[in-house]
Amino acid sequence: MKLMTIKEIFALEPDGRAVTVKGWVRTKRETKAAVFLEVNDGSRMGNIQCVFDEAAAAAANAELGRAGTGASVAVEGVLVASPAAGQKLEVRASSLRVIGEAPAETYPLQKKAHSFEFLREIAHLRPRTNTFGAVARVRNRMAFAIHEFYQARGFNYVHTPLITASDCEGAGAMFQVTTLDLERIAKSGQAVDYSKDFFGKPSFLTVSGQLNVETYCAALGRVYTFGPTFRAENSNTTRHLSEFWMIEPEVAFAELPDNMELAEEFLKHLVRTALKDCAEDLAFFDQRIQPGLVKSLEAVLDKPFAHMTYTEAVAILEKNADKFEVKPYWGLDLMSEHEKFLCEQIAGGPLFLTDYPKEIKSFYMKQNADGKTVRAMDLLVPRFGEIIGGSEREERLEVLEARIRELGLDEKAYSWYLDLRRFGTTPHSGFGLGFERLILYVTGMANIRDVIPFPRAPKLADF
Ligand code: ATP
Ligand code: MN
Repeated sequence: MKLMTIKEIFALEPDGRAVTVKGWVRTKRETKAAVFLEVNDGSRMGNIQCVFDEAAAAAANAELGRAGTGASVAVEGVLVASPAAGQKLEVRASSLRVIGEAPAETYPLQKKAHSFEFLREIAHLRPRTNTFGAVARVRNRMAFAIHEFYQARGFNYVHTPLITASDCEGAGAMFQVTTLDLERIAKSGQAVDYSKDFFGKPSFLTVSGQLNVETYCAALGRVYTFGPTFRAENSNTTRHLSEFWMIEPEVAFAELPDNMELAEEFLKHLVRTALKDCAEDLAFFDQRIQPGLVKSLEAVLDKPFAHMTYTEAVAILEKNADKFEVKPYWGLDLMSEHEKFLCEQIAGGPLFLTDYPKEIKSFYMKQNADGKTVRAMDLLVPRFGEIIGGSEREERLEVLEARIRELGLDEKAYSWYLDLRRFGTTPHSGFGLGFERLILYVTGMANIRDVIPFPRAPKLADF
């Protein structure tokens, strides 16, 4: 392509060659001697400065008048070394064409800083801001790094379904999928007959690909999913979305320590990649969003993650009970406030908690000999708490069957899942990393609604 991005232009030498810059005006600044257009095309955080000297400005006078913040432009000129601090080159502009105007009276994104709340209301325009451009680039790089990580280790990417006919996971409330005319049925006063529904039975959007991916784990050994998941829980927090992306690796013959080793290598790989390949964007987040971000991410790479059992953690929390809104006790599904405290005050970084009470974890987790806890692991991080949840899976047929019965789950619905234990069962383990939680972690952004292009949350499905 002859068309060049600003990032590609910045890789060139300022040797006076002719270039055409195409992008959107961020700012226009006028002095007696020259007009400066800062143009950005999203290929990188930094703008390219296009300088119109007196003669060029006079020639482009009418177009310059229309080239306000947000306008799309094509600037022709030559590439020269920049005398300005902090940028190695600029464009000595000879001509300007405004492609699309963005009238200042109506264009919502003016030069001043906007609140994230306001920007959420204009989610279709917010990628044009520094912050959301940076989030999008980091998100992109992280998605690719996830595949790089698993592909380099012989994992197969498995595509699990988004529509599922049974609430197998039990991970959270599900969104129903139906083509029935519920309004008409309600008016008629009749009961809903799901045999007439599209799939012949109630069906839902998946909360996790895990149970499905386990089937491929029991054949290919190392597998992972990476796709959207849906949870209809009414949690209006800065850490929960109704639609989020999850990465779920599953490894045959892996036990809990192997699982934690994989999770630690995985998170470190992602942090290392972000520091290396998103340095410009991370520097921005460090300066504007989360002071100390880069240092704290670098520190994560330096030392092994801390480990603690749930029982040990609760003992520590109980000693500090006065610090929490919800009083900690053995059996409590820990809240973000407890998780943050453990990472920030006790571990000083990421922390694995293991061996949770079986009552607060899913039916498929491997039971410990104590009869009370399961081989679960959550990875907690400073600032928001849980980033990964996982476990060794129960591979013993009788134990799993007994647990399903104990919980009153529909045994028939799990018969295919139990087959994996009936035929050639093996120890195996896996976990789920919430993709948006990862993006919160590496960018330092505070609200999960600001790290996905179009957030879905209770009462929020715009755009
Ligand atoms: P939490 O306790 O934080 O609500 P969870 O225990 O329900 O999470 P899991 O079922 O273990 O979560 O899901 C695996 C991972 O998916 C979590 O560690 C988290 O990173 C992410 N996750 C879970 N629920 C959400 C959500 N509603 N929005 C965004 N990410 C989520
Ligand atoms: Mn969890």
